[in-house]
Amino acid sequence: MTSPSTQLSTARSAELFDRARTVTPGGVNSPVRAFNAVGGTPRFIRSAQGAWLTDVDGNAYVDLICSWGPMLLGHAHPEVQAAVLEAVTRGTSYGTPTVPEVELAEELVARTSVEKVRFVSSGTEATMSAIRLARGFTGRELIIKFSGCYHGHVDALLASAGSGLATLAVPGTPGVPESSAGLTIVLPYNDRAAVTAAFAEFGDRIACLITEAAPGNMGVVPPAPGFNAFLAETCKQNGALFISDEVMTGFRASKLGQWGLDGAVEGWKPDLVTFGKVMGGGFPAAAFGGRADVMSQLSPEGPVYQAGTLSGNPIATTAGLATLRLATDDVYSHITTAGETIKAAAAEALTKAGVPHVIQASGTMFSVFFKDTAVTNFSEASEQDLPAYTAFFHAMLDRGVYLPPSAYEAWFLSSAHDDRAIQHVLDALPAAAEAAAVAATQGAKA
Ligand SMILES: *Cc1c(COP(=O)(O)O)cnc(C)c1O
Repeated sequence: MTSPSTQLSTARSAELFDRARTVTPGGVNSPVRAFNAVGGTPRFIRSAQGAWLTDVDGNAYVDLICSWGPMLLGHAHPEVQAAVLEAVTRGTSYGTPTVPEVELAEELVARTSVEKVRFVSSGTEATMSAIRLARGFTGRELIIKFSGCYHGHVDALLASAGSGLATLAVPGTPGVPESSAGLTIVLPYNDRAAVTAAFAEFGDRIACLITEAAPGNMGVVPPAPGFNAFLAETCKQNGALFISDEVMTGFRASKLGQWGLDGAVEGWKPDLVTFGKVMGGGFPAAAFGGRADVMSQLSPEGPVYQAGTLSGNPIATTAGLATLRLATDDVYSHITTAGETIKAAAAEALTKAGVPHVIQASGTMFSVFFKDTAVTNFSEASEQDLPAYTAFFHAMLDRGVYLPPSAYEAWFLSSAHDDRAIQHVLDALPAAAEAAAVAATQGAKA
């Protein structure tokens, strides 16, 4: 890939990236940050305020990833910051129960379908622990996941499958034993027949089915109407647990997460739910929870072991609690309106430039696919024009808008995205759409 030209000075980021690469694999602590999919110099961010990021070279960007979802209220929100600063003065970790853990647990129980929760430090830990609990509770070993759904880097969940129905998976990465991935069945998303067939074949061996409540890790692919209810019902009929992964959608897609858009309206509950991102308020905090009889199987109440030195950390839970208490209806309506404005402007600019695109949403979460037909599963998401996205991404970045450095990610907004920040995005879109058009045409000729 040719190195994209940039109008911004990125000398300091480039220098830091060189240093980082000598001491850290790929120079980053999570792969997408390395810009491998789009090329160019990853920006080292020095500070953030509201809707804006500032890098080490002094460039400012409107942030459309919001730390991949958590920063629902924008960066350095004064009330969250004050709560955290106050908490820090009383020490940062005790390895004992604390007040904010109880309050945050009560908040999660009040706001979602779960009856009991356990805190962990990352979404990965939450899904890993939920699966262990489901296996312990049911005494079964197989799990079902969907292609294109990401649940963290849990061994059994990094499996991908070839085409075909109910294929027992092969590992998606070196380092995952076949014995682990081989217990995972990977199905195409939104495909009821595939789910029915998998349960018909393996029903009494399936411990759980895990799905993103609304997938956001292949771009936003909303569940077809009734799909989550169908999954919950199918699991119930087969004695398997339904795990809804709301790490991304929780307190983001709506005030009640994706469940607020389907289960709460239709009258069903997942058996287990995983949370992360927004509920940590920008700190490493995540959770899994659900039915009291299932959660009671966890140690020390029950036999399924699970633990964590920093689990329920008082600073992280304080930040999460402050964030959720401030996440009012007004916050969600602001993010909805801001999203509508940006989606409409992106569609207009891309249409005018003749760039095929489709914009999909679930609640306040949305993404722009660089293809012209609706995306209902991972194989359709994979048909995007990646050179067009790369050109679009860099043109936006050059104009001070930080989009996800991958075409397979959602765009995230916050309540701090005010008129000025939104206007900055709108101003950048036409030229970025033109750049995408040029790249798309070149791609077609090549
Ligand atoms: C981000 C994410 C995870 C993993 O969370 P980490 O905190 O990165 O480990 C799991 N599931 C979903 C749906 C996610 O979006």
